[in-house]
Amino acid sequence: LGAPDVEALEADDVAALLPAPGPESDKYQRGVVGVVAGSDEYPGAAVLCAGAAVRSGAGMVRYVGPDHATYRVLARWPEAVAGEGRVQARVIGPGIPELDAVLDQVARPEPVVLDATAATAYARAGGPALLTPHAGELVRVLAAAGVEATREQVEARRLHWAREAARATGCVVLLKGSTTVVAAPDGRVRVNPTGTPWLATAGSGDVLAGVAGALLAGGLPPFDAGSVAAWLHGLAGRLAADGASTSASAVLDALPAALRAVLR
Ligand code: AMP
Ligand code: MG
Repeated sequence: LGAPDVEALEADDVAALLPAPGPESDKYQRGVVGVVAGSDEYPGAAVLCAGAAVRSGAGMVRYVGPDHATYRVLARWPEAVAGEGRVQARVIGPGIPELDAVLDQVARPEPVVLDATAATAYARAGGPALLTPHAGELVRVLAAAGVEATREQVEARRLHWAREAARATGCVVLLKGSTTVVAAPDGRVRVNPTGTPWLATAGSGDVLAGVAGALLAGGLPPFDAGSVAAWLHGLAGRLAADGASTSASAVLDALPAALRAVLR
């Protein structure tokens, strides 16, 4: 820290950045987010990611995925809509191990969150992209950009490698883990001050991706969407854990409380 381009978001910054509905807002202005997540193996990622988008202020969530996951998403979130349609932003990748399945979804012009394996397909994105890798996934993103690094190197210098990845890919990179770092291609970096190690639990990253997607659809640029999503997700994690263990579902349920903490 101490470098001029490195900052930490305060609650007031988050409140100022958050898109809140005005008196004339309708659901389309608030943002429709497309969620391309989940597989027969990981249907829960779809439920968590779509739910996080619902819970963090999206005007509408459109879910696209396998039938089995679609039934699960709609059973849990009746406000979600199934199938393709016009969206302001997409989240692609949570719970999708196979890259082939999502490549045509990546190559579209709307802003996109690329999570998990899909982050390695950043070069095909047709619009602004926010990548949300953990350290292991970042190694693969760097490799796709022609940069060699090991997981140990990334863990030892998280800020450095997030910034390198943003430069090499031309995308905003949100590196998840013990300290979450958001880096922009122009060298700006935000270090997230919220969060708790209790967030290191299955499905928690899928929730983060859904929050970021809702914020992108609400009109935030990828750097702000990523850093505000990390901040809210970290606070929701703290509220959900409250000094003890938590689950991704509990983090999701705590998102409105995290929003209330900044919106008052
Ligand atoms: P994923 O790797 O996709 O399952 O996402 C895990 C989530 O938990 C991300 O939001 C990480 O930033 C967060 N996380 C993982 N490990 C830690 C940790 N040691 N301290 C704080 N947050 C963590
Ligand atoms: Mg993940």
